[in-house]
Amino acid sequence: ESLINKIAAGEVIQRPASALKELIENCLDAGATSIRVVAKEGGLKLLQIQDNGSGIRKADLPILAERFTTSKISTFSDLSKISTYGFRGEALASISHVSHLTVLTKTASEPCAWKAHYSDGTLSPSKPGLSAEPKPSAGNDGTVITIEDLFYNTPTRLSALKSSSDEYARILDVVTKYAIHNPTVAFSCKKIGSSGSEVSTPGNSRVPDAIRLLFGSTIAKELLTSKASSNAGSLSQPDTSDSQDSEAWSAEAHFTSPNHQAKKTTFLLFINHRLVESPRIKKSIESIYSAILPKGSYPFVYLSIQIDPRSIDVNVHPTKQTVHFLNEDVITEQIADSIQGTLNGRSA
Ligand code: ADP
Ligand code: MG
Repeated sequence: ESLINKIAAGEVIQRPASALKELIENCLDAGATSIRVVAKEGGLKLLQIQDNGSGIRKADLPILAERFTTSKISTFSDLSKISTYGFRGEALASISHVSHLTVLTKTASEPCAWKAHYSDGTLSPSKPGLSAEPKPSAGNDGTVITIEDLFYNTPTRLSALKSSSDEYARILDVVTKYAIHNPTVAFSCKKIGSSGSEVSTPGNSRVPDAIRLLFGSTIAKELLTSKASSNAGSLSQPDTSDSQDSEAWSAEAHFTSPNHQAKKTTFLLFINHRLVESPRIKKSIESIYSAILPKGSYPFVYLSIQIDPRSIDVNVHPTKQTVHFLNEDVITEQIADSIQGTLNGRSA
């Protein structure tokens, strides 16, 4: 059974950056306005993420790393998240099977923080012979998740990874993308043990400001914006939480004018605030640019789409990150049209 769990865990958590993505989403779900990431050896030796969100109640700690914990957590209220992400509380469970996982957390109403270690889905002692019970500790409101020795017990997974510096680059990439999509949250990412690039955002800006800060002014000064939605011409956001209209959607894009020419496409796609891939959408936007950019030149495109969670194909495994949704062709076409329209207006 343990082997099956390890294999399953490896499907969900493929590398440090995929663990980090899940952890960042947890911080955002917890309402954090500050998210700090620290990595050592590309996140394989150590990956730590600290937030100032809601914290986890002490009573919830024993089941935190059980699979499918979500619905059991007493503070869990946002059931729409399950259908939004097609997600079932597997991240911490999976991580606990393939690493040494420590959670330090404090809610505002608790007098002190609590520290707990997890192994194979359950609370476990930090050292053999000690108690597995959470221990009272010093700590701020919020949560610190520490992952040590990721994949120590799955050598095949470990050997499939690239160098530490490549894994760190992927960590920075995830932090950068979430920092752009969440410009009101202060993000930072640091590497321990050797010098290297870092990311830090102030948390009080807007998407184009975050793009300027993280991708530079050459991109930022060529940014155009367009919006599209199911109610043509209207900029109102669909209320995805209790909307009866499963066709409702809206999209906002920031993308470079043809004056900006990069060596490769940078494409950031968020659907319902989750970083995902859509080869279909990417291809349609790339074809707009290939008609107006010289050969070998590519754009920067940030696109955020909100759609009714019920229209997302939840059969697609969340960690494959490729999503499909209802009326994908129509919606893709309308988004592409709005981007094309803005690009045309600019060059006219
Ligand atoms: P899911 O996010 O799908 O519920 P996870 O394994 O990622 O599954 O997390 C399990 C639960 O642990 C979450 O639903 C949440 O209640 C709690 N949790 C995890 N990380 C945090 C955090 N940083 N702050 C507050 N609660 C958290
Ligand atoms: Mg989660």
